[in-house]
Amino acid sequence: MDRHESIIPDARLPTQQGKRHKRLGYNIPMPILHYLFDLDETLYPPDTGLWPVLAGRINIFMQNRLGISQESVIEKREFYYRTYGTSLRGLQADFGVDANEYLDFVHDVPITDFIHPDLQLQKALAGFSGEKNILTNANRHHTDRVLNALGVRDFFQRIIDVNDMEPYCKPQPEAFLKAMRIIGDDDPTNYLLLDDTVRNITAAQQMGMVAILVSPQPIAQAGIRQIHCIHDFPALFSKLSMEGVL
Ligand SMILES: [Mg+2]
Repeated sequence: MDRHESIIPDARLPTQQGKRHKRLGYNIPMPILHYLFDLDETLYPPDTGLWPVLAGRINIFMQNRLGISQESVIEKREFYYRTYGTSLRGLQADFGVDANEYLDFVHDVPITDFIHPDLQLQKALAGFSGEKNILTNANRHHTDRVLNALGVRDFFQRIIDVNDMEPYCKPQPEAFLKAMRIIGDDDPTNYLLLDDTVRNITAAQQMGMVAILVSPQPIAQAGIRQIHCIHDFPALFSKLSMEGVL
């Protein structure tokens, strides 16, 4: 095991390699055809200070626009996150909130105060020829701003945002099915997801995708393959390629 990767094996889970071999019926792995990159706190680290500002704006929206009391905002957001995947989907279910009005308000922050050009990420993406897509529970406008701030917009062929996954969002299986339909390939074993959220990783794995957690926090969960920073993905992909997983 090298510094780029940690994995806690779980004998109960078949390996992706095993699945792929089984599907093919012979001992040559299929290459991954589509790479799905989450956006927020995957392409940039979680310590930029952006999330607390966005979370504060979600709270303001819920209090000022919807009249939810300050005391119940956090509890409601946690309930929505567990039940619907995001605050947005919960607010749509309970209040009929317009997605774009909500997302435009929440993301109305000076992104470039928090996110800066990332030369190492630019180099990593430039040196990697796979088909790269963004799969995010945010909307396209925010995605474009973040990608432009990082200086990586041109590396991504496609953005699949929360509106494309309507009425679902990650980690719901229907959201992944919608994304695969948009890409035009409904075989999950042709996909690899990079995401900072464990439940998204688990959901993608359960569908048959290869999935890699991107998080500086060590996660003690069986069967999760992890890198600590997005900069580490080329080294991990090389390693997985050598092992026949990719
Ligand atoms: Mg994320």
